[in-house]
Amino acid sequence: MQGETTPVAPVSLLGPAAVSAWIGLGANLGDRQAALRTALSAMGALPGICVQRVSSLYGSAPVEAGGPDYLNAVVQLCTTLAPHALLAQLQAIEQAGGRERPYRNAPRTIDLDILLFGDQVICTPTLIVPHPRLHERAFALRPLAELAPELVPAQQLAAVAAQRIDRVQGAGWAL
Ligand code: ADP
Ligand code: MG
Repeated sequence: MQGETTPVAPVSLLGPAAVSAWIGLGANLGDRQAALRTALSAMGALPGICVQRVSSLYGSAPVEAGGPDYLNAVVQLCTTLAPHALLAQLQAIEQAGGRERPYRNAPRTIDLDILLFGDQVICTPTLIVPHPRLHERAFALRPLAELAPELVPAQQLAAVAAQRIDRVQGAGWAL
C-alpha cells in the first residue's frame, strides 16, 4: 500500500541463511589500535563472514585486573559460520595477533568475544552466548548500544555507568 513502509531485513551478501553476530574487540598491549584493525580485516577476509558495521573506538580501564587501559570496539558481522566455527576462527586470529593467556584477565594483545549470535542462546563448555559477562561490562555494552540500542536495555547501561569508558574516536578508526 502506498505510504506504508515494510520492515526489511538487512541485505546480506551471504544469502538468507546468514546471521548477525556481534563481536567485542579489546586490546591493552602493544599497538592496540593496529591490533584491532588487523583483527577486523582478518575477520572480513574469512569465507562466510562479512563485516557489516563497526562502532566507535573506546578507551576503558581494565576490569578486575591491573595493566594498561584497553581500547575496545564492537563489530557487527554477518556470517554463515556456525557459532563454534566462528569462535575457532576468532581464536585463530587471536593467536596470530600474539595472544597469550598466562592467567585470568591477563593483559592481552587482542581479545575477540562473541557477544551475541543472532538470537541464539548457547551454553556449552567452550562457548556461552550471550557472552556471560556482557551485561556487567561497560566496554562491551556501550559500543554495542551505539550500534544496536534495541539490544541493550537501559537498566543494563545504567548498572555499569560507574565504569570508566571514553569514546576516543569515531568509526573511522577502522579505515
Ligand atoms: P576472557 O573471558 O577474558 O575473554 P579468554 O578470551 O581467554 O577470556 O576466553 C576464555 C574462554 O572463554 C575461551 O577459551 C572460550 O572457549 C570461552 N568462551 C565462552 N564463551 C565465549 C564467547 N561468547 N566468546 C568468546 N569466548 C568464549
Ligand atoms: Mg575472550
